[in-house]
Amino acid sequence: QTEETTTALDAFDSDIPLAEREPIITCDSINKWFGDLHVLKDVNLEVKRGEVICVLGPSGSGKSTFIRTLNGLEDIQQGSITIDGTSLSDDIKEMDKIRRETGMVFQQFNLFPHMTIKKNIMLSPMWVRKWPKAEVEKKALALLERVGIPEQANKYPGQLSGGQQQRVAIARALAMEPKIMLFDEPTSALDPEMIKEVLDVMKELAKTGMTMVVVTHEMNFAQEVGDRIILFDQGEIIETGTPTELFENPKHERTKLFLSQIL
Ligand code: ADP
Ligand code: MG
Repeated sequence: QTEETTTALDAFDSDIPLAEREPIITCDSINKWFGDLHVLKDVNLEVKRGEVICVLGPSGSGKSTFIRTLNGLEDIQQGSITIDGTSLSDDIKEMDKIRRETGMVFQQFNLFPHMTIKKNIMLSPMWVRKWPKAEVEKKALALLERVGIPEQANKYPGQLSGGQQQRVAIARALAMEPKIMLFDEPTSALDPEMIKEVLDVMKELAKTGMTMVVVTHEMNFAQEVGDRIILFDQGEIIETGTPTELFENPKHERTKLFLSQIL
């Protein structure tokens, strides 16, 4: 394993407590509409470098739309988003930079079915980053080792289980050396026996100091790995706090209602 595949947070930052770190993501009063539907309402959020944010909330509350705005997959009509010092704007060069530095893992793994696992991982680093093939191949194999499936390198996605495919999707995102990883319900499409293997990989990633924003219904993961939980309802962040604050002492009635339905 190379140093850069294991360390997201440099030694300097890891010595600084979360509260004193600079934010790597800043959302300032963002608003978004789909036609008449006001889907994000004055959303404010600061994420520190190395912080793990878990996003909870009922279906249709705007969680996916929200995390898709963070890498420009969805645009916003009001407010601003700053990622690692770069403001999300229409400037194509800046958007490219943000997309390279923001890895995303979806519920559906979205691997290219006609390419081997190794090629799936190598594609973007070679063609977007333009890193040399030999180096990228070495990195791909190291990442497969890291997500626990080095023996699958030359197989095709259809030959892997859902849990293995999702681990490939994580490796593929990491191959771009992102500064931030976004996860949108990464285990929701998996059979129960495969959920743990994916959450374990995410847990390991969190330990390296990767900044992560994770939409999930996995309460144990949120409780154990999340530095902070945010709860969405009807396009608003209605409550935010540490897992202990949110699970053991929720302030908002809607938080209590949501927790009573899922726990
Ligand atoms: P969640 O991920 O919390 O389930 P979403 O962000 O997917 O919620 O959706 C929030 C709301 O926006 C829902 O009412 C959904 O139907 C609507 N929505 C999502 N995507 C689109 C779209 N592309 N066009 C119109 N409405 C959308
Ligand atoms: Mg969603």
